[in-house]
Amino acid sequence: MMDTAVAPATTKDAILVASGLTKHFPIGRAGFRGPMRVVRAVDDVSFSVWRGSTLGLVGESGCGKSTLARVLLRLTEATAGSVIFNGENLFDLSRDEMRQRRRDMQMIFQDPLSSLNPRMTVGEILKEPLLIHGVARGEEKQRVADLLEEVGLGPHHSNRLPHEFSGGQRQRIGIARALALRPSLVVCDEAVSALDVSIQSQILNLLRDVQREYGLTYLFISHNLSVVKAVCDTVGVMYLGRMVEFADKRSLFSTPNHPYTQALLSAVPKSHPRATGARIALHGDVPNPINPPTGCRFHTRCPAAMPICQKMDPVLKDIGAGHLSACHLND
Ligand code: SF4
Repeated sequence: MMDTAVAPATTKDAILVASGLTKHFPIGRAGFRGPMRVVRAVDDVSFSVWRGSTLGLVGESGCGKSTLARVLLRLTEATAGSVIFNGENLFDLSRDEMRQRRRDMQMIFQDPLSSLNPRMTVGEILKEPLLIHGVARGEEKQRVADLLEEVGLGPHHSNRLPHEFSGGQRQRIGIARALALRPSLVVCDEAVSALDVSIQSQILNLLRDVQREYGLTYLFISHNLSVVKAVCDTVGVMYLGRMVEFADKRSLFSTPNHPYTQALLSAVPKSHPRATGARIALHGDVPNPINPPTGCRFHTRCPAAMPICQKMDPVLKDIGAGHLSACHLND
């Protein structure tokens, strides 16, 4: 297993510390008696999230960021590793104990319709978690009205069904549902990716407002680096199941170290018309996670690859001021 560094936070100021997190999905044998094949969706990933901050996870689709989020919340069980949340190892908890802790860890999805029961009214959708967890018994109606107001909707919306709302309004309902139990951590999985740019910024503003109001911590998963730059404090870059760079947002966007991060950033449209910087083209597709490349997993597409890159897996290490990168160019 690779000797990865844990991102620069101590368990004292971190709400969540993931160590050596691994998720392999078995997919059957190669041939009748061949070895069991696995999809290496997440491989030995370690990082920390500061309380009240927003950590962005970026990478091309299939890099493992959504699987990582599901493993963190134990919506799917990890193959190895640990997750310390509020000082407690989630992987030591029973199912019942985990159900209780989930009050404190909510998720907002890209497509709210897929997570909202289409036959329930918005009022029923928001009331459901309150009833399940016995919160505010007898005060559900008022809590639903308060939640709707917090996300910019009105009490009159509570009798409508999800399909009667626009995409932006549905995402507001998804946020209200996530907030219902007053969690401390919210995972936003491509939460604004399906929205028009103007609606996107309204939803991002709403997420910022409720973060300030309730001191929320966000894990913000996105393939959109402009959005990540706008909302995140810290950013982790994933490639083929591995964390390849992890840094404070300013450091990552001003001095990206890993060639993969440099290529991703070079593809972001520049806001200033006179901004320069040639686009770094990445050739080929992301390799198959069933059989990832030896050594550095990025070597098949890296414009700076050297002979050692095919043989040795680079360690994620501190290259200065807590900026972590996994590349032999730093050796
Ligand atoms: Fe490129 Fe080698 Fe660095 Fe990997 S270790 S990113 S292949 S230079």
